[in-house]
Amino acid sequence: MSNIIHRNLRRPPPLAVSASGLTVRDSAGNSYLDASGGAAVSSLGHGHPDVLAAMHAQIDRNAYAHTAFFTCEPAEELATRLANDAPGDLDHVYLVSGGSEAMETALKLARQYFVEAGDTERSVFIARRQSYHGNTLGALAIGGNEWRRRPFEPLLMNVPRVSPCYEYRHRPKDQSVDDYTDSLLRELEARILETGPSRVIAFCAETVVGATAGAVPPTPGYFRGVRQLCDQYGILWIADEVMCGMGRTGTLYAFEQEGALPDLVVLGKGLGAGYQPIGAVLAREHIVTRLREGSGAFQHGHTYMGHPIAAAAALAVQKVIQRDNLLGAVTVRGASFRRMLREAFGEHPYVGDIRGRGLFIGMELVKDRESKEPFDPQLKLHAAIKDQAMAVGLMVYPMGGTIDGRLGDHILLAPPFTSTEAELAEITSRLGEAVKRAFTSVL
Ligand code: PLP
Repeated sequence: MSNIIHRNLRRPPPLAVSASGLTVRDSAGNSYLDASGGAAVSSLGHGHPDVLAAMHAQIDRNAYAHTAFFTCEPAEELATRLANDAPGDLDHVYLVSGGSEAMETALKLARQYFVEAGDTERSVFIARRQSYHGNTLGALAIGGNEWRRRPFEPLLMNVPRVSPCYEYRHRPKDQSVDDYTDSLLRELEARILETGPSRVIAFCAETVVGATAGAVPPTPGYFRGVRQLCDQYGILWIADEVMCGMGRTGTLYAFEQEGALPDLVVLGKGLGAGYQPIGAVLAREHIVTRLREGSGAFQHGHTYMGHPIAAAAALAVQKVIQRDNLLGAVTVRGASFRRMLREAFGEHPYVGDIRGRGLFIGMELVKDRESKEPFDPQLKLHAAIKDQAMAVGLMVYPMGGTIDGRLGDHILLAPPFTSTEAELAEITSRLGEAVKRAFTSVL
């Protein structure tokens, strides 16, 4: 009997005892190939020597000093590096302990930006359906992940919603991609106008949608249109890159591929690559200048913000990504991984779509490829795939409710940037076996 409140209270997970490279081992002697980086976290695999060395060194130097009293070298260096590597004037960094905390930080920073100018009426965030921004109450309210929200609905602030940019599901066959994108932007504009532009603080969106819908990239021009609408109506754009950022899509920031600059960028997961709990918000110059020249302080803070060991780990991750040219590796390996998946599953009767960017890939499962009809959610196909994958020694991140929070299943793949071609081929092969077993068990 465990004293931990595990995610599944009826079935505790295996006990992980060691991990290196792409392999995680449990106490029963099983080993698992990590094809999802946990939940798109472990971008350098497990036990990377450079990251471990940086953490050890920092522990010996200074394990903790509260940020109300001191700053520290690794946090300063990490912030400088993130800012230098970010496009435009995204020059200011707030370091926290994870993605949800970073999202809360971005929401409050955006609100205070307007409060500093006496614009206290603004209280509304607009966000998309089928999105996830974290599990704390503010972030959960922003997210459009229905099954995660449902039990807590009465506690959540009201968030006007627009459709996700989800071409495979929602673009009618006879509509051009440009017209589809335009219709989404008109919908966002209508929602801003309906809410009243002077009441809106920001529009929040994952640049590439992660776990909720399975690595769904935006259509060309979508975020340029978002930027233009936000400028037109004087509201901010918050890009949630907790899952898709930090190189996962082949560029350090996923929005770099969109030709538009958000006001605030939210980071987590791959920032510390699992070695330490860390998240961050990047803010543009006008945001921080207004606070500096106004009240002089961002009214926020956490005990573990800017933690020296977390910052040292994240800094080492950044250095390894640059030294080993891992952004290039993500692009090259991502293309070959998608090719392998297309060869293995491209004609599979139940695989409707293989999508994504870099090493951030989603496979959507359908009962009928032509009509895109999903499987009956009662089958819990996604859960069967996860179980069967673990049984064949493979970690993937399947999820249900892909389409609307209830219907649809997908498998999210996010292997480490350090994966070799041979490892990606092995992942593809084990996934084939897991998918075959899962369909046999549920159908
Ligand atoms: N935003 C996105 C896009 C995420 O995928 C997640 C986590 O899955 C979060 C925010 C929340 O991050 P965390 O679980 O570190 O609180």
